[in-house]
Amino acid sequence: MTDNVKQAPSTDEVLEKHGKYLIPAVRNYYKEPLIAVEGKGARVTDINGKTYLDFFGGILTISVGHANDEVNAAVTAQLNRLAHITTLYPTLPMVELAERLARLAPGKLQKCFFTASGTGADEVAVTLAQTYTRNHELIALRHGYHGNSTLAQSLTAHQSWRSLPSQIAGVKHALSPYCYRCPLKQTYPSCGVACAKDVEELIQTTTTGSIAGMLAEPIQGVGGFITPPREYFEIVAGIVRKYGGVFISDEVQTGFGRTGTMWGIEQYGVEPDMMTMAKGIANGLPLGAVIATPDIADSLVKNTLNTFGGNPLSCSAANATINIVERDDLAANAREVGAVLREGMERIQRANPKIVGDVRGMGLMQAFELVVDETADDRTPNPTGANLFLEETRKRGLMLGKGGLYANVIRVAPPLNITRDEVDEALRIMGEAFDAIG
Ligand code: PMP
Repeated sequence: MTDNVKQAPSTDEVLEKHGKYLIPAVRNYYKEPLIAVEGKGARVTDINGKTYLDFFGGILTISVGHANDEVNAAVTAQLNRLAHITTLYPTLPMVELAERLARLAPGKLQKCFFTASGTGADEVAVTLAQTYTRNHELIALRHGYHGNSTLAQSLTAHQSWRSLPSQIAGVKHALSPYCYRCPLKQTYPSCGVACAKDVEELIQTTTTGSIAGMLAEPIQGVGGFITPPREYFEIVAGIVRKYGGVFISDEVQTGFGRTGTMWGIEQYGVEPDMMTMAKGIANGLPLGAVIATPDIADSLVKNTLNTFGGNPLSCSAANATINIVERDDLAANAREVGAVLREGMERIQRANPKIVGDVRGMGLMQAFELVVDETADDRTPNPTGANLFLEETRKRGLMLGKGGLYANVIRVAPPLNITRDEVDEALRIMGEAFDAIG
């Protein structure tokens, strides 16, 4: 521990200030919140000196490990050179990053706009969809999450993340491709992916018939890593384009190798018209981006500016992070070590057939959905079990995420450079934690 940590205030003092000075909607995990003070690689140390294996990475943001030496060196060098100037002046890190994203993005996606968050990126993507198509209405997915602005809350389809009844008009929500809880009570593949085909009737019945586009996550992150069937996005993107809209892939959680390919949407063989990204792009520095085809990008003719968007520090962090992701082929690591993680989680499911209803995800983005009793066909969500499980894993030194509309899904998403040994350690702790909660 550094001297810094030793002199830190006590847990009680921090929690008292948090309660007094932060709005109560800023909620923490765990009965006694975990106050993180240091991180290195896949490990985080709390205020009491306890170390944890971090399998949530600040919500899928720590792509290449905490305090990554290369990222930190790049950011420190940039900090000493130029921290901020705004987009009124071109900067070297920003154009380098834009060129890099254009090279990595599928198809004709080529022109970027940078923001300081995923919400901001989704906002601009919607604006571009509307200026390009000259249509207004939008399709999003039930169980989706797109941020905390008024528009992003309107696109989001989780009651717990929508604070006001009067939202932006013209947003319609399609059925979620949530096979474990199929909204059409069918079974894949005999369903013929009916939920995807239903998007056409949604457009025909609830819109003017001319839409601006659809925004969707390849895997619904906050929704509990809901993983659509392989054919899903080809069907919906086709329908969206038939009705004049563009298809936007929200890669805020799935981008940068997380699912085993550079972009989540690649898993579905679809070329989007735009992609949005944030979280894992810069290993923890605030940055969001939208990338669009030149035609779509050029449709926004008014001025636009985001003061901190694409700032030199975040862009230098992103350049270093993506460089590591490419050089070390972390998408392959997500596939290979992700397969070990998945097998281990399925083993845990077999050992706990009552409470673990579903295991799903891709690459290093895997989840357990906890239910009351899968063996008795009782799929009632079990948020109490999820909370107990989080407490037990924390006790044993493992940080995990939670999610899902019913807060009953455990999200497992370590850094992309995680090793097999670290995955084995996490699997052992998860197994023990299920034993402990019975
Ligand atoms: N889109 C998705 C898929 C997300 O998961 C999130 C954040 N959880 C956002 C957008 C919003 O990103 P931010 O919190 O950086 O605004």
